[in-house]
Amino acid sequence: MNSSFKQLRLDGVGRAYPTASGATVAALADLHLDIQRGEFVALLGPSGCGKSTALNCLAGLTDLSSGRIWLDDTRIDTLPPERRGFGMVFQNYALFPHMSVQDNVGFGLRMRGTPKADAARRVAEALALVQLEGHAKKLPGQLSGGQQQRVAIARAIVIEPPVILMDEPLSNLDAKLRIEMRAEIRRIHGALQLSTVYVTHDQDEALSMADRIVVMRAGSAQQIGTPREVYGSPCNLHVARFMGYRNVLPFAVTALDHDRITVQSQGVALQGTAMAVPAGTREVAVAMRPDDFELAAAGNDNAFDATVKAMEFGGRTSLLIVDSPIGELFVRLGGVFQPGDRVRLHIPPDRTLAYAEEA
Ligand code: ADP
Ligand code: MG
Repeated sequence: MNSSFKQLRLDGVGRAYPTASGATVAALADLHLDIQRGEFVALLGPSGCGKSTALNCLAGLTDLSSGRIWLDDTRIDTLPPERRGFGMVFQNYALFPHMSVQDNVGFGLRMRGTPKADAARRVAEALALVQLEGHAKKLPGQLSGGQQQRVAIARAIVIEPPVILMDEPLSNLDAKLRIEMRAEIRRIHGALQLSTVYVTHDQDEALSMADRIVVMRAGSAQQIGTPREVYGSPCNLHVARFMGYRNVLPFAVTALDHDRITVQSQGVALQGTAMAVPAGTREVAVAMRPDDFELAAAGNDNAFDATVKAMEFGGRTSLLIVDSPIGELFVRLGGVFQPGDRVRLHIPPDRTLAYAEEA
């Protein structure tokens, strides 16, 4: 397949399955997504939201119920997986246990009838790229989980695919290795100028690795944007909650001017940012991240008093549960607090997001 393509396009891709009652349910509905060459796109969402379905539709492992997939001007959703030639990396590595590392990596090349000398050179290059040169003759069982996942990556990239698809490739690794492998996968992506579609349910992973994130829920894309966009300006409460806006509380609208909104609840007035709130809306849900609170300085607007109820020590900062007039809140602050301490909290208006939805 052409690896100098410009764009891989999912054009309204959907996949439905019949249910026991005879109805059908959409595992994936109407996904529109353009992936540029060299781009790293993460599909992010909770378990069961359709991430693997989307990836398998791209790979050709699952038939589409609707839509088309294009690589530039070539329609590819009608091609079998081997003719698409995408590299795949799965959560469980899927290595052949009885084959050496180099034979595992070279498997795709042998299947394609690549001449032996050429194949040997490319296997050595792929192993060098994932930093496993010294392990070529070992069996997968003699390697750590992280090393096995590197073998799986080498096996996927050795065929020089135009696009590499990864389905939760790090979820079987321990926390420290996961963080190291994030950087490693980004490095390989950059070195080979790959297009990568990366499935994960881990926000931090998506935020730290991807150029763009597709936030999914119940089979549909909720928001497609850069990490900064989906983190800073979630398009709805579902995305906001998923991005760590743990405090979602009802407020009454007292003024609304484009994206500037003033809200109030139990005598507390806050300036906030209206997230596409229609004129005339009277009730909103306000979403605030624990990390966006700070101790109020004298004269701060957007401030109110609260009482510490519980505290979870976290090193440099602590997660507090506080009681306040607007309700119970999760707040992350530096310093040491005791239950019963009074604090005055401040949150900036651009971190106080109002949605025309029910809290
Ligand atoms: P994710 O990868 O985000 O966890 P999946 O794409 O695996 O989610 O699944 C999305 C939805 O489609 C789930 O509700 C799942 O139960 C359903 N689903 C996936 N594969 C099948 C199948 N072969 N038959 C019936 N339902 C399926
Ligand atoms: Mg999955």
